[in-house]
Amino acid sequence: MISLFDLFKIGIGPSSSHTVGPMRAARRFIAHLNPTFPVARLRVTLYGSLAWTASGHATDKAVILGLAGEAPESVNPDAADDIVHQIGIDRRLFVHGHPVAFDPTCDIVLDRETIPPIHPNTLQFEALASDGTVLDTARFCSVGGGFIVPEDATKQASYAQPDMPLDFTSGTELLDRTCQSGLTVAGVVLANESALRPQTEIAAYLDLIIETMMACVERGLVQHGTLPGRIKVRRRAAALHERLMERARLNQRPPHEAMDWVSLFAIAVNEENAAGSRVVTAPTNGAAGVIPAVLRYYRDFCPDASRAGMHDFLLTAAAVGGLFKLNASISGAEVGCQGEVGVASSMAAAGLAAALGATPLQIENAAEIGMEHHLGMTCDPVAGLVQIPCIERNAFGAVKAINAASLAMHGDGAHHVSLDQVIRTMAETGRDMNHRYKETALGGLAVNFPEC
Ligand code: SF4
Repeated sequence: MISLFDLFKIGIGPSSSHTVGPMRAARRFIAHLNPTFPVARLRVTLYGSLAWTASGHATDKAVILGLAGEAPESVNPDAADDIVHQIGIDRRLFVHGHPVAFDPTCDIVLDRETIPPIHPNTLQFEALASDGTVLDTARFCSVGGGFIVPEDATKQASYAQPDMPLDFTSGTELLDRTCQSGLTVAGVVLANESALRPQTEIAAYLDLIIETMMACVERGLVQHGTLPGRIKVRRRAAALHERLMERARLNQRPPHEAMDWVSLFAIAVNEENAAGSRVVTAPTNGAAGVIPAVLRYYRDFCPDASRAGMHDFLLTAAAVGGLFKLNASISGAEVGCQGEVGVASSMAAAGLAAALGATPLQIENAAEIGMEHHLGMTCDPVAGLVQIPCIERNAFGAVKAINAASLAMHGDGAHHVSLDQVIRTMAETGRDMNHRYKETALGGLAVNFPEC
């Protein structure tokens, strides 16, 4: 089982694999750099998908921040641009207290020719002496959701945690654990997490995730203006919010009112993500709006919603997200958007069903439905920005999640396609997908939408 502490991470936008992961990799390279080496210059090479969408996904900004010692969970999003700007002017940064030359315009190399051998999101760091000798180097793969793995360890990477009392690696095993223990899906996850840390710490982390998600929604609801990037996408959450409030004041309440709010919550979060603000990776940044939107729907629209229900929601969602991470991928560069918005929708469907009191079988069914209707969804961000189609797509992922939970709860849990089968199908579909549809911005909407 992958811990919820790994699946839900606090970071900054716009991308978990292209921003959060590279920032962590850069920071790790610097932290492990021998302070006695006479480093005169640093060089970073981005390969594959990271090179194709570098500035659109803020990978360049992320590696600069990481080299400067910043971490995604603690960097001040409002100060980040100033830090990057200053390093660009000074053409140097400080490593272990010593100035080292670093000119982002030439020391961040975008290698779009070399095909990285292990993973499409690969980056390399080099510390150079004054004569150009390479003193130290490291290569990392950013494998989705902010997870990073040294390239040479990728194949052996294991996400299993030690001594989990009710460990599971498939949907079938998860259901078995609930039968054996008599626990809910959330109860199984909590039992495993409790083997790693005290329950008070787990509850505090769940509360932190909830508060960070809700704060992101609130912030997104009041921001105006345009998002970063050359297509100048106008933020629309604030205007949409005002319209919905006005409609409520006039007591004009269409039957689909709740869906309008769900879409609004998702759009608010993803506009914040696109702006590089503080978000929760859930399970990625591109898909960061789905789970907050459905969680907020549960909180604001479902009778008897409670804080305990929100905890069950997140614990259950983490179980499902972990299965996708373990057995397929949550990286758009590996499997397309089905691995991002599709997985988030599946997680949210399971989480909502759990919070509403579904049985383990119904929860497994909800997760399966949530993914089944995202199979084959490509990743084709216009101009390499996490904006079009990403922002609106989160609204659809959230609405589909609610529908999936509802459909599953109208049944008794019996269904034809299992969660494990749909996870396997998603992985195979992603493998067969042309690379132009996997976060390279070389196909789909990215080439058919006129940018000017
Ligand atoms: S299309 Fe989907 S996977 Fe691709 S960048 Fe947007 S949200 Fe991420």
